[in-house]
Amino acid sequence: MSSMNFRRNSTAVEVGNVTVGGHSPIVVQSMTNTDTADIDKTVAQIADLANAGSEIVRITVNNKEAAMAVPTIREQLDTAGIHVPIVGDFHFNGGRLLKKYPDCATALDKYRINPGNVGRSDKQFSEMIEIACTNHKAVRIGVNWGSLDQALLAKMLDQNKASPQPKTLPEVMHEALITSALESAALAEKLGLAHNKIILSCKLSEVQALIRVYRDIAKRCDYALHLGLTEAGMGSKGIVASTAALSILLQEGIGDTIRISLTPEPGGTRTQEVIVAQQILQMLGLRSFTPEVTSCPGCGRTTSEYFQYLAADIETYLKNQMPVWKQQFNGVEEMKVAVMGCVVNGPGESKHANLGISLPGTGEAPIAPVYVDGDKFTTLKGDNIAEEFKTILNEYVAQHYTSA
Ligand code: SF4
Repeated sequence: MSSMNFRRNSTAVEVGNVTVGGHSPIVVQSMTNTDTADIDKTVAQIADLANAGSEIVRITVNNKEAAMAVPTIREQLDTAGIHVPIVGDFHFNGGRLLKKYPDCATALDKYRINPGNVGRSDKQFSEMIEIACTNHKAVRIGVNWGSLDQALLAKMLDQNKASPQPKTLPEVMHEALITSALESAALAEKLGLAHNKIILSCKLSEVQALIRVYRDIAKRCDYALHLGLTEAGMGSKGIVASTAALSILLQEGIGDTIRISLTPEPGGTRTQEVIVAQQILQMLGLRSFTPEVTSCPGCGRTTSEYFQYLAADIETYLKNQMPVWKQQFNGVEEMKVAVMGCVVNGPGESKHANLGISLPGTGEAPIAPVYVDGDKFTTLKGDNIAEEFKTILNEYVAQHYTSA
């Protein structure tokens, strides 16, 4: 259901059983925050993320305990029927770990290499690439402005100083990020890694800077791009910053897989980053994950909170039904449902949805007209409106979506 005419041409990369890039749907991914060596907690969180819809999950592999845990984590997930591809996030000691723990190297589906932390000319980099080649694994060369290759940056700053038209410091930094990614990818290919095994990312935490860098790198290569604002932050700030940056790039056809780097609220769930990623793609009309509920914000025309309750109730109902419906009915995730507070916009908005209900506002007759595919279907009244609407919803799904 893409409303976008243009998608940047990128090379498709197989990551386990998922394709990133090419003409494949934009992939949602996430990352755990458990100690990878804690197998039970890591397996549980990967399962949570996968069940929430994460199509790839990254885990940190930062020491020997983590590397030793990886094969068991993979095994336990497979036993539980969770075949989500797992990416190992490597930094300073990645080459050593992959070499010393070959079962870890084979259990992972992709390795993330940060050239700023392993050093492109370092043995670690070539070791990781060689192991990826031997095991036919994909690699993400993930550059981050918090860990930019300092030797490269220093060299570029010197060159800039000597230039007759020196660039600003942010401009040089952006160029250094892109150069680090592209030169590392070229080196990886020289070492034998296939072009279609490489995904690139250049993450920053400022929205405008991220947009500039990705627009630029998108033009300069055809590697699949992993998109994300690094350290997006917490709560609405993190969500809004990520949505602002990613929406602009995705609308321009840039980005093959996305990750939303939210800091979870204390006690909050890690799966929020998956939901936000899905919602961004769905709101842009790029993918559908769950039926969409359009509800009005409510205003002085509604005296009770009844319609807020109903909107939340319907949304929760849809969310809970989706795992069941998805198994049974093709295309149900594209359904649109409207729950509106009064007669001002209620009937109009309801007519644009597959199913819509317009609740009575203050002073209106206590009835709720229901619309199906734009036509008035029935009018509900009394105390059972929510349950009766759900029955209509169930019947609609069964009648309009073919068996999966
Ligand atoms: S549809 Fe009615 S209740 Fe909802 S915001 Fe508009 S005027 Fe207010």
